[in-house]
Amino acid sequence: MGKNLLLAVCTLASVSVHAQKTADPQPFAKTITTTDLKKHLSIIASAEMEGRDTPSPGLEKAAAYIETQFKAFGVQPGNKDSYRQFFDLEKDSASTLSLNMGGMAFTAWSDFAPWIQMPQTADLKFNEYVFVGYGIVDEKRDDYKNADVKGKLVIFLAGQPDGFKTDKPRRQSPVFTANKIANAKNKGAAAVLIISDQLPSQQMLNNSYRPKPAVAAQEENNSIPAFFINDNVIKKDGHSISEIKSSIGRETIDPVTRQLPVAIQYVSGKKTATVSNVVGLVEGSDKKNEYLFVTAHYDHVGMDEKGNIYYGADDDGSGTVSVMKMAEAFAKAKKEGKGPRRTVVFMLVAGEEKGLWGSEYYSENPIFPLDKTTADLNIDMIGRIDTERMTADTQNYVYVVGHNKLSTDLPRINEGANNKYTKLVLDYKFDDPNDPNRIYYRSDHYNFARKGVPVLFFYDGMLKADYHQPTDTVDKINFSLMAKRAQMIFYTAWEMANRNDMLKRDLKLTQ
Ligand SMILES: [Zn+2]
Repeated sequence: MGKNLLLAVCTLASVSVHAQKTADPQPFAKTITTTDLKKHLSIIASAEMEGRDTPSPGLEKAAAYIETQFKAFGVQPGNKDSYRQFFDLEKDSASTLSLNMGGMAFTAWSDFAPWIQMPQTADLKFNEYVFVGYGIVDEKRDDYKNADVKGKLVIFLAGQPDGFKTDKPRRQSPVFTANKIANAKNKGAAAVLIISDQLPSQQMLNNSYRPKPAVAAQEENNSIPAFFINDNVIKKDGHSISEIKSSIGRETIDPVTRQLPVAIQYVSGKKTATVSNVVGLVEGSDKKNEYLFVTAHYDHVGMDEKGNIYYGADDDGSGTVSVMKMAEAFAKAKKEGKGPRRTVVFMLVAGEEKGLWGSEYYSENPIFPLDKTTADLNIDMIGRIDTERMTADTQNYVYVVGHNKLSTDLPRINEGANNKYTKLVLDYKFDDPNDPNRIYYRSDHYNFARKGVPVLFFYDGMLKADYHQPTDTVDKINFSLMAKRAQMIFYTAWEMANRNDMLKRDLKLTQ
């Protein structure tokens, strides 16, 4: 009896679900037009955006444009009352940098240069130094032997002697520079000078922003002051690096202490920049606390030293404007009382070209619970035709990546939507485990996948031709194919946002 009652309740519940029958998505999909895609892309990939480097004024202009459009579409802010999720970048540069040895002043960047993970300041004076060969310490070898280097300046050669072997991977190797410096620190050294043929370039230190580490990671950066010195310094003493190397040979030598006044000064001029992911949403109805993400990266690689602009029309202007048009279509549906059941979040991320920074930041600092995020549909390049594609369907395909990972619902829903509405060839070539491109791990969706969120990635396969060249321009885009692909993704999103259940997470992510 009880069982029957339960059944009756279930039937009632399913009736009420069917009452919310999914509305026809076609009138909204059709608003994703070639005209509008072209209009937006001509702005996103214009000279004014200067190639949208992360960070750059051009990137910020692009973000402002997307935000303005979201507002105009009636897309709500995705991060409380803001359309932005900001994150900080930083880069080192030296404001004071001097090295004086034996009364001789050396020139920064041509004779010596700081180690990139330096403490913020150093003001050091020594009367002697201890030379410890290659400064290698592992189970079999200790180049310090029993030398007391506490509070002292240690000097060693970069790299390793000929024939030195270790079975450790690069970063754990005893010859990895960071490990050598850490060993000097463990022995009590106050600072190190590393004799090296090549100095890190000022360019590298000054021009490379990276995401600001989280507080815990920042505290871990407690290296002692370390500098590279080159042959210019060694030659002042009447020797050369190669002479030193050949006199040492392969074996461990006894550390040599030498009396010599050395003064080092360093003050970091750390610079910071703030960039943002642009996030908008169309709020769901009865399942508004579940989320579907649609993503693309709006950054590209900027300009070169000659001032050439890398427009990034396909990469990933095409994805950016497709996400914008999908956002507009969902907002229009909601205005007409046909909004999605789940909340659909439209996120354009920054820093993809630099190393998936924006999506990594989001996945570590999610605005919405990742376990309530049913899927991420990521687009990176859907505006062109793969120049290497040898099949006859070049005008009617898209590569779909990730269909066999994390959820068996992914291909079912995606193929269902495509068969019903767009009939593109969905090419799973890049899901072949033997494919060397490892595309699945190379764009922003991977930061969702590694957190367990099922993802599909849509891509035109353009890795030759104008990929990462100034010639990736708007005039090369095939807008009718791009609109069709964007509509197919829209239909897939529509189904994922409106179906009864979140996507099953029934497959393991394998490398
Ligand atoms: Zn890209």
